[in-house]
Amino acid sequence: MSDHYERVKIELQQMKEVENEAAADEEQLSPATASSIPADVSFTARRDLSRSSVNGRSRSKSRSKSRSKADGHERQVNGKQLADPTAQKSDSSQGQSRVSNEPNLHIKGTARLLKSKTAANGHVESCLRHTDGKCEHHGKEDGRKAVKKRRGVTVDTSKAKTSLEALKMSIRQLKWKEFPMGRRTACDIYWHGVSFHDNENIVSGQVNKFPGMIEMLRKINLSRAVRTMHELFPEEYNFYPRSWILPEEYQLFSTQIRLLKDNDSTLKPTFIVKPDSGSQGDGIYLIRDPADLRVISGAQIKQAVVQDYIQKPLLIDKLKFDIRLYVLVRSLEPLEIYIAKEGLSRFCTEPYQEPSQKNLSHVFMHLTNYSLNVHSGNFVHSDSCSTGSKRTFSSILYRLASKGVDIKKVWSDIIALVIKTVIALVPELKVYYQADIPPGKPGPTCFQILGFDILLTKNLKPILLEVNANPSMRIEHEQEVSPGVFEYVPSPVDEEVKVGVIRDTLRLMDPAQRKQHAT
Ligand code: ADP
Repeated sequence: MSDHYERVKIELQQMKEVENEAAADEEQLSPATASSIPADVSFTARRDLSRSSVNGRSRSKSRSKSRSKADGHERQVNGKQLADPTAQKSDSSQGQSRVSNEPNLHIKGTARLLKSKTAANGHVESCLRHTDGKCEHHGKEDGRKAVKKRRGVTVDTSKAKTSLEALKMSIRQLKWKEFPMGRRTACDIYWHGVSFHDNENIVSGQVNKFPGMIEMLRKINLSRAVRTMHELFPEEYNFYPRSWILPEEYQLFSTQIRLLKDNDSTLKPTFIVKPDSGSQGDGIYLIRDPADLRVISGAQIKQAVVQDYIQKPLLIDKLKFDIRLYVLVRSLEPLEIYIAKEGLSRFCTEPYQEPSQKNLSHVFMHLTNYSLNVHSGNFVHSDSCSTGSKRTFSSILYRLASKGVDIKKVWSDIIALVIKTVIALVPELKVYYQADIPPGKPGPTCFQILGFDILLTKNLKPILLEVNANPSMRIEHEQEVSPGVFEYVPSPVDEEVKVGVIRDTLRLMDPAQRKQHAT
């Protein structure tokens, strides 16, 4: 069904009935750590202030009387008053203190690597076989497979914006029908470039954006959501750098860092400051002291996140790099996630050194954003997947494997990180969803491709940097054709990865598939 995706299936249930306190206590006794979660993930969690853990599989179900009145909890989204089906989640606008009064959350999850007959790890494996650094293009082959099950699915591409090129290619390969100017009658799939609301008044079909996703993935909201889970499940949610929200936590940040330095004068921590709604490295800077924060811009106090800077990233060719992975949220209820087996690695263009007062402002050394590094004279455009400043993730895994790294463990740690991050976001997303698509009213269903940005530390631990609601699906890259003049030229690496992701997303969202899946 899908060559590019790992399938991950998760169910979240609110436990309204907790009858047996003793059985519930027992659940804490053997907490699982992230590293013990293999490709198969199965855990049960209770969300409550006094007890918090994500436990290993085959826990007994707790049964006891409801201990909370929070079922009737109400909140507002987009000015609408809603009965909150997710009252167990702390309200991000009010910090984490409400969690103690909330009912328990029961999380059941399974994540399974899809194994094809020929390759243990689908696309990754097939790329790993190439030692000459050239990646095979799977497009034609996949296209042929799709022809057999052609169903003339209709796709409205009128709002696709920068993903249009890759989308067109995918639709062509699947032999589906594209409506570039929209259609009077309903389409099966609506592909939006930015948000759920790009196209109003859709009453059926499927839209490739969830309401509220952009809001939930702003840096502050993501930090809050992951932090809430970290407070409850510290062992499980230790993949996100310690963060403070500005301006409201400025005093807290200053005090904590001053105490830290007072206790150990040899400590020289570095922090990274990121504007809340920024992207592509815009406005990001490093500091070594809270006094260096540029909190005020004009008369306005800037909203931002400041977080521990990961000082010892894994380096390849002496360069820092990050990983962009594509994750499809196919459904919120039940929660269904697919993780693309192929992603991109974006490289810095100046050799890495641990931060010092001297190099703090060297963006080409510390920030891996393509949009910044492409303007460095050292940026290397390459048609190969395993060289240059943008490479496939599988080529990195291949390289690590050749050095004896256990890449299965790296991959399963990444899968666990993705699942846990999505779990942290789901309760608020469901509230947004209900506000825009109330149950019982005609409306589309939603799915969305997210862009996870992940850094590997020197010790190969994946760290979540951010999640993009609208990851770039451009298949061209900017190239300086003459001094100071940039043009978009085709990028084989982007095409290889992004067309595969979009095509497999479409295949997974094929209405006939979905019907089959539902029965
Ligand atoms: P943006 O949305 O502007 O790209 P990111 O959060 O992705 O913001 O940060 C930009 C870049 O900064 C990342 O790609 C990464 O190279 C670097 N970076 C971000 N956070 C950290 C961190 N905590 N430690 C080390 N490097 C980081």
